[in-house]
Amino acid sequence: MAQKEIQTTCCYCGAGCQLLFTVDQTVNGILDVHPAKGRTNDDKACLKGWYGWDYLNDPQIITRRIREPAIRKNGRRSPLEVVSWDEAIAFVAANLKKVKEKWGPDAILGAGSARGPGNEPNYLMQKFIRACIGTNNIDHCARICHAASVAGSMQTIGEGAMSLSIPEIENCEVIFNIGYNAAVSHPIVVRRIIRAKEKGAFIICADPRITETARIADLHLQLKGGTNIALTNAMANVIVNEGLQDEAFIQAHTKDFDKFWGIVKATRLSMRQRSRSLIQITFGSRRGNMREASTR
Ligand code: SF4
Repeated sequence: MAQKEIQTTCCYCGAGCQLLFTVDQTVNGILDVHPAKGRTNDDKACLKGWYGWDYLNDPQIITRRIREPAIRKNGRRSPLEVVSWDEAIAFVAANLKKVKEKWGPDAILGAGSARGPGNEPNYLMQKFIRACIGTNNIDHCARICHAASVAGSMQTIGEGAMSLSIPEIENCEVIFNIGYNAAVSHPIVVRRIIRAKEKGAFIICADPRITETARIADLHLQLKGGTNIALTNAMANVIVNEGLQDEAFIQAHTKDFDKFWGIVKATRLSMRQRSRSLIQITFGSRRGNMREASTR
């Protein structure tokens, strides 16, 4: 039996954990997986990395469909039958046409994938959906999970990516975690947050849900859904009004701070114009917690 160990990157979340796959080259299959000593994961992996790879050995779905298209000709749960590419493309086209004729183009949605072969196929996908199908129902998984953070990071730190490495999280003194449940999204990252807490870091979690991250937080800001911006503006208001900002840092590393402060002040006025009960709805019953988070 020709066995070999291959180091690769876990394909589930973006944490980039390194895994060691033991492969059997005679049957072209994976026998076992162990975490490798990657910078991010430090020879640990979460359940997805440890156990979520057996689909790669599945001879019916993945491997077979990569090599040749297959159709369940007799509907759901009927066996997959291998067909030619011409037949597969004609099948898809005929079914899309049927839906379009019966329900109109807006009954069809195209969803591009960040795990596909790159930007070009996604560009073609949106062209196909707009020009051939005739609808603007085109979306991409990155818009839901990552687009907001990419746009925000680009504007604030000039790069649509993290500004520190995952291991560095352990050395933070305060971690402000807003709308992010690391325990589910990137389980290997939550280990770093827990280690930071063990070293004395103060953990703030802003989330309407009582997530695993909220449970380990020192302060849980259980804000109402859709009020993240109101929360961050309110925190900026407390910080600047109480003179807690780091002026030297602002001078050296930021631009347009006055513009930002103008926006916060305008928001503050509009918040004042609202009734107390509306503010209560935005921040929930523990507004004092927002002040504590701002002063950390
Ligand atoms: S945290 Fe889990 S899912 Fe994410 S890369 Fe690491 S092993 Fe894979």
